[in-house]
Amino acid sequence: KSQALRKLGVGQAITTDGVSIEVCGNIEFPEEAIQCKERGADGIGLYRTEFLYLGAMGERSEEDHYQAYRKVIDTFGERPVTIRTLDVGADKIPGAMKHVYNEVSNPELGLRSIRVSLEYLELFKTQLRAILRAAVFGNARVMFPLISSIGEFRQARMVFRDVCEDLEEQKIEHNPHIPVGMMVEVPSAAIMAEEFAHEVDFFSIGTNDLIQYTLAADRSDPMVAKYYNGSDPSVLFLVRRVLFAARDAKLPVAVCGQMSSNPMFVPLLLGMGLRNLSVTPQSVPIIKQLVRNISITECEELAQKCYQLDLARDIETFLRGELKRFL
Ligand code: PEP
Ligand code: MG
Repeated sequence: KSQALRKLGVGQAITTDGVSIEVCGNIEFPEEAIQCKERGADGIGLYRTEFLYLGAMGERSEEDHYQAYRKVIDTFGERPVTIRTLDVGADKIPGAMKHVYNEVSNPELGLRSIRVSLEYLELFKTQLRAILRAAVFGNARVMFPLISSIGEFRQARMVFRDVCEDLEEQKIEHNPHIPVGMMVEVPSAAIMAEEFAHEVDFFSIGTNDLIQYTLAADRSDPMVAKYYNGSDPSVLFLVRRVLFAARDAKLPVAVCGQMSSNPMFVPLLLGMGLRNLSVTPQSVPIIKQLVRNISITECEELAQKCYQLDLARDIETFLRGELKRFL
């Protein structure tokens, strides 16, 4: 069965009306890069680097980061590898930082992700140095998670520039020209997507956090699971807003949250204009095969119908029904 699946991953994913769709993979450990490539991923759309820290009590050196990034970049050659800077806190807390979070009553709204990087600048700079050095060897992109304001993005980008200058001065080989993008996963960022589009080199929509923050439902709390719903029209409204802002600004945009790994949502996302998906490694062949069975025209019609519905339940029923036509 796995052989058959692997076959589906081979080659490009092109819709029946000839539109090429990029299907990349999400990874957490460098060792996954090779499996991802074997399953047919067109690149890495999300490398969750914080997993380098999880379980580790000690610091990670620049060399540790560098080796991990080189492994992934070398595996993908000319194909894009999107390295996300540390997204620790909330559900992903490194051993060495447990004490910081013990007292916090609401970690999802607390010091997590890019906020940690901007608070612990040396940690952030170490990581950026390693990314810039590894980027000499392939097609890397860097992406900041949980950006919630324009000022915050500018601040992160400023640190990125400082690190480039340091490497320049120290005459250490690096690639300062890599694209610098952001995750759109906080509603404030989705609301301001048009403004952000002038600042960043690319967007990647993180639907996992976007759903949680839009609907005020903790993504890991089973007691509120029924409130956490990707089919909610408010979530789809924000996703659409970001896709349209990117289209108008001619900015690359991907969806790397779980929504793009769910076949039910793929026709809708394509109908909203999405052309780049990043999915779990196991989903790459399935999603590629689905793309080959559908046309953008059908997807656009489906999306128009979806916009008319105002209940998450109705949207889900509709999308499930439509999916059957494409399988
Ligand atoms: C997301 O929030 O959708 C995302 C891709 O990031 P993570 O799941 O790592 O928070
Ligand atoms: Mg996230």
